Amino acid sequence: MNTATIGIGMTSQRTRTRMVERLRTRGVKDGRVLHAMGLVPRHIFLEQPLANRAYDDTALPLGFGQTISQPYVVARMIEILIAGRELGKTLEIGAGCGYQAAILGVLSKQVFAVERIAPLLARARHNLKQLKLSHIRLKHADGNLGLPEAAPFDTIILAAAAAAVPPALLAQLAPGGRLVLPLGGAEQVISLFERSEGGFVETRFDAVRFVPLLPGVE
Ligand code: SAH
Repeated sequence: MNTATIGIGMTSQRTRTRMVERLRTRGVKDGRVLHAMGLVPRHIFLEQPLANRAYDDTALPLGFGQTISQPYVVARMIEILIAGRELGKTLEIGAGCGYQAAILGVLSKQVFAVERIAPLLARARHNLKQLKLSHIRLKHADGNLGLPEAAPFDTIILAAAAAAVPPALLAQLAPGGRLVLPLGGAEQVISLFERSEGGFVETRFDAVRFVPLLPGVE
């Protein structure tokens, strides 16, 4: 983890530290995840009128009917993925304007992220450049198909909910790899799929609410 390369100042460091304390109180324990959450400034991902709420532990609107994920849920999902190992080569489906991609980029040297809404992807590109997280590779694509050209992945994380895991994503998971998504329709639970020799092992965690995984690009 190379924190020196992240182009952030001390602005909002105090509020970020408070956010990390709240995450710890809610039960996030992994020091690597807490460190990354404390390092990435969430306010730069938000439009100006919302920037003062950046360190509240809530999802906030991004435009295009999408939301920037709640810090607790980002931390929780990544903690499930990283427990007892490294993230390795990571794919995020639904980059939005890049907040979670930035956290993943602090924790892994190899991060790919896809987003189906072109203007959001452009914002993600701009935001990640500002943070000097240039190793994160972004693509305008339908995440239902995964990213065959970069597969297999040790880690896949979906930032949008699906009633079932898209088969292409399971196929692109490396042996021993982990995939986490909000699984369900109106009611969703964080679900982990681990690829083992005998197939996939599924484990269910907290109830959550995410925007839906949609088909195609726009
Ligand atoms: N990762 C973002 C969350 C953005 S909300 C964050 O850190 O805050 C979820 C995103 O998933 C939306 O931007 C939405 O456009 C995107 N999305 C939904 N279906 C998708 C698909 N099939 N492929 C790629 N992105 C998708």
